[in-house]
Amino acid sequence: MVRELLLWHDRRFGHEETARLASGLSPDALARVDTSQPALGILSATWYPMSVTHPMMDAVAARGGNEGREFAMQANREVVPRMIRGVYRTMFDVVASPENYARHVGRLWRRLHTTGERSMVLRAPGEAVSRIDGWTGHHPLACWLTIYTMAYVFDAMGYRHWTVERLTCVAHGGERCETLLRFKK
Ligand SMILES: [Zn+2]
Repeated sequence: MVRELLLWHDRRFGHEETARLASGLSPDALARVDTSQPALGILSATWYPMSVTHPMMDAVAARGGNEGREFAMQANREVVPRMIRGVYRTMFDVVASPENYARHVGRLWRRLHTTGERSMVLRAPGEAVSRIDGWTGHHPLACWLTIYTMAYVFDAMGYRHWTVERLTCVAHGGERCETLLRFKK
């Protein structure tokens, strides 16, 4: 998903601004990107270490403030529907109801992340609590990206009216990251 987010960043802020995100990278990390290419040459199906992703997320968060929450919301509003229509169509078909999302989100998380255990509890009609435990690769912006990815996946299921409330976060002294998602059609 890093590539899709950077492509969105290219469109929204221009390529030069995207290239600037790489300015905080160490020489080793910089060798993994190509600032002359769209999305910095980041590939879809390739895993990138935190040494690449964290300094770029730091830059986005520093520019936008509020841990990059606004970026996470705006980017996912466009990126999630596009991904659902594209390469992630099969994945979306698996989770296209709250019950299936809750059932499969842990397995899907492990396909996209190397650390953390994701789970979801549907605690009442229209209320889901999403949890991430042991996420050593946590970054505050990645936390918001996860939250808004979830929200816009529910949106794509037809739950157009939703709110997210982050209950706890390891970046704010929490033992885990926990978000309450309220949703209705
Ligand atoms: Zn968090």
